[in-house]
Amino acid sequence: MIIELSDITKTYPGTESPALKDVSFEVEAGQIVTLLGPSGCGKTTLLRLIAGLERPDSGVINIRGQEVAAENSWIPPEKRGVGMVFQDYALFPHLSVEDNLAFGLEDRDQDKIMETLELVGLADHATKNPAELSGGQQQRVALARALVRDPVVVLLDEPFSNLDMSLREQMRRDVTRIIRESEATAIFVTHDQKEALSISDKIILMNHGVVEQKGTPREIYELPETTFVASFVGQSNLLEGTIGSDAESVVTEIGTIPCHHTHGKQPGEKVTISVRPESFELDSQGSIQGVIKEVVYKGNTIDAIIDVNNTSHSLLIHIHPEIKAERGDQVSVKVLPDFVAVIER
Ligand code: ATP
Repeated sequence: MIIELSDITKTYPGTESPALKDVSFEVEAGQIVTLLGPSGCGKTTLLRLIAGLERPDSGVINIRGQEVAAENSWIPPEKRGVGMVFQDYALFPHLSVEDNLAFGLEDRDQDKIMETLELVGLADHATKNPAELSGGQQQRVALARALVRDPVVVLLDEPFSNLDMSLREQMRRDVTRIIRESEATAIFVTHDQKEALSISDKIILMNHGVVEQKGTPREIYELPETTFVASFVGQSNLLEGTIGSDAESVVTEIGTIPCHHTHGKQPGEKVTISVRPESFELDSQGSIQGVIKEVVYKGNTIDAIIDVNNTSHSLLIHIHPEIKAERGDQVSVKVLPDFVAVIER
């Protein structure tokens, strides 16, 4: 493990509730890990603790096997080998791109600087000033400045939030490719669930200072462990029910829903399930009948809200855009089990 946080708790002076409570997670070398969660959940505080810009009240932080923060140990930020890329890039405006990379280096290694600029696709801009570059290019300079120091880990705090939508997608791809090519380890902070799903090897999903769930993007999306995870990452229908006699289904008010992810729950046990909108398919043989109440055309899919007949339940379902679905249509729907999971907490 290149980074290990164990039971980190932190309360800022003058505040009552802790910004972080017993947070533990690990990062392996070469991984891209994302700290995801709503505003105020403690993501930036975690990043600052790893960088050494804050000190935990309790808990231990290990970087490359060395205790950098614990009750009786403290390694200052400059000795941790951590690179940071800030939201506003924090480049020196009066220095050229190459001098920005060289700033603070004990031995300027021009070959390495040019190699790193090559990696981020900016070798031709080495002598320009940051103001002569676009936002996306400035961001790549900030990344290059972190990478040229061969950091143990690069920390990136909402690095794409200042970019417009189309550039953001491009930069996400570029930055993750550069990090992969340089074999660096990276921790991103983001509140954007799509971003986290698309760039991460592992997501640490936070809420109110605690870890709600950690896992691969697929685990987080397909097997949400809490109702918060099910609704924060993607959209979900949450239904109450009991485990069916075959232990592979859940009996609910809208019918029996097939479910492979029951986490060992026994027949008859009360559970909440998360059913993703893509688990539903319009099918004349489908067991759920209802009326389409709302249709939102999204290009690649249609979001439809269906009022299930004879119940007070509404379902959000995705319909293939090829299908002509209209408000007021009476439809039958079947459920595919792949995106159905019992919520554990
Ligand atoms: P955002 O996405 O809005 O940046 P975040 O998830 O990064 O939020 P943090 O900035 O880590 O959250 O803040 C966590 C909690 O700690 C919040 O309640 C915040 O108000 C509080 N907090 C952060 N910094 C300080 C500080 N210097 N002094 C007091 N409280 C702070």
